[in-house]
Amino acid sequence: MTDSIRALLDRVPTGLLIGSEWREASDGGTFDVHNPATGEILATLASATQDDARAALDAACEAAAEWAATSTRHRSEVLRRAFDLITERAEDFATLMTLEMGKPLAEARGEVTYGNEYLRWFSEEAVRDYGRSFPAPEGTLEMITRRKPVGPCLLITPWNFPLAMASRKVAPAVAAGCTMVLKPAALTPLTSQYFAQTMLDAGLPAGVLNVVSSAKPSDVSTPIMQDSRLRKISFTGSTGVGKKLLELASQNVLRTSMELGGNAPFLVFEDADIDAAVAGAMQAKMRNIGEACTAANRFLVHESVAEEFGTKLAEEMNKLKVGNGLDSATTCGPLINPAAVDSMTELVRDASDKGARVLCGGERGEGEGFFYQPTVLVDVPRSARAAQEEIFGPIAPIITFSTEEEALEIANDTEYGLASYLFTQSIDRIWRVSDGLEFGLLGINAGVISNAAAPFGGVKQSGMGREGGAEGLDEYTSLQYLGVKVER
Ligand code: NAD
Repeated sequence: MTDSIRALLDRVPTGLLIGSEWREASDGGTFDVHNPATGEILATLASATQDDARAALDAACEAAAEWAATSTRHRSEVLRRAFDLITERAEDFATLMTLEMGKPLAEARGEVTYGNEYLRWFSEEAVRDYGRSFPAPEGTLEMITRRKPVGPCLLITPWNFPLAMASRKVAPAVAAGCTMVLKPAALTPLTSQYFAQTMLDAGLPAGVLNVVSSAKPSDVSTPIMQDSRLRKISFTGSTGVGKKLLELASQNVLRTSMELGGNAPFLVFEDADIDAAVAGAMQAKMRNIGEACTAANRFLVHESVAEEFGTKLAEEMNKLKVGNGLDSATTCGPLINPAAVDSMTELVRDASDKGARVLCGGERGEGEGFFYQPTVLVDVPRSARAAQEEIFGPIAPIITFSTEEEALEIANDTEYGLASYLFTQSIDRIWRVSDGLEFGLLGINAGVISNAAAPFGGVKQSGMGREGGAEGLDEYTSLQYLGVKVER
């Protein structure tokens, strides 16, 4: 490890942020954070216990009334200062994400820009706290609506986008006047720890944001969710864990935002610009090493262009350089852990057993880290696991179709409904297929559409609620209606 990386890691708090202080766990417990490119230990963090979780909620509840009473301009300016500080510290954040999550440094820099945009966007949205005023149809009341902070929130984030998943929850919560307890993923908590310190440096008062990293996630979530003072949970992660949390949330009828798994179809029609579709496919599949909920999971390609598309996609995949994300030549980093590599091996074996052909890749990568080669599979039957499950890695299965109806039927044949992609040059088809796709997000001739200004979220078992856009702020407010008697 170089001196500059050691110095950066020394700047990351390793304790639990509860109220105004970073402290040890109540039982002194810790857990290690590893670099997936080398397997080495990067840092040892305090691991929150149930008592720590309760203390963090206490701090959030104590700060709630005062924070809710601050002006929207004040909250906006805290967020804007945090945006400026993250811009100054961009290289620190990018390096931390490459170290703990594995993505190539250039992509990590991209995530700093993307994740930081949530702070700028919600600093701008914070002051647009519009209500409505209108007369009752009978003329007897003046009816007013206004929004209030929903109250203390529990925010749980996944490991794959360590900055953006935290900022797109924390920024709207701050803007709305909520206090919160953030539980980052144990695999990649360093970015969140550094992010929380940056929020404090930007002037966020003690207790508004509390951070409880832990090796035992349910030790944090269960006591907090059973406490009647909690008002909301916002969770991003797998559908399985999301369902458990929804059950728990029902006990106190919590407001819930659930950003869950995906199984994105990527439709390429016979009238598509194939080179543009391949470029879009590389982005939609390989951004974040394929470890994204929005990652193209199933390539549904018209039979007349499937061979050309598959050949060109394999050519591009073969150009990727697998390696440590800190190496400037690397364009595809390691997977998050050994289990993820095993999972890729199993998916390829299952597809091959069912008749698929491996056009490129299909093997583990070389080296100490958790590498897997970028892989293209063709002639993949719909029964293959790679065609049904969330892959979360660098495998692109190609399935052919012959009609638009068949493409839509295959695309919607999943319990998920997060992202989908459509490549065609026909305007009429864009509308028809958009009408037919049961997904919350649709990229039209575009491989990446995530944006802080857009409402991000899914339908079906991909979840509920939206993050980003004007809608992202609504998730942290509750609507109050005032009926004022009018005597005329
Ligand atoms: P995960 O569900 O295993 O973990 C997510 C978070 O939940 C982590 O912080 C983890 O520590 C915590 N957690 C795990 N078990 C828990 C429990 N029993 N109680 C409380 N908390 C618990 O998911 P992951 O592996 O970190 O992330 C990958 C998943 O996240 C994929 O399914 C992906 O599609 C999804 N994801 C969705 C979005 C979206 O916006 N829809 C974005 C990114 C990732």
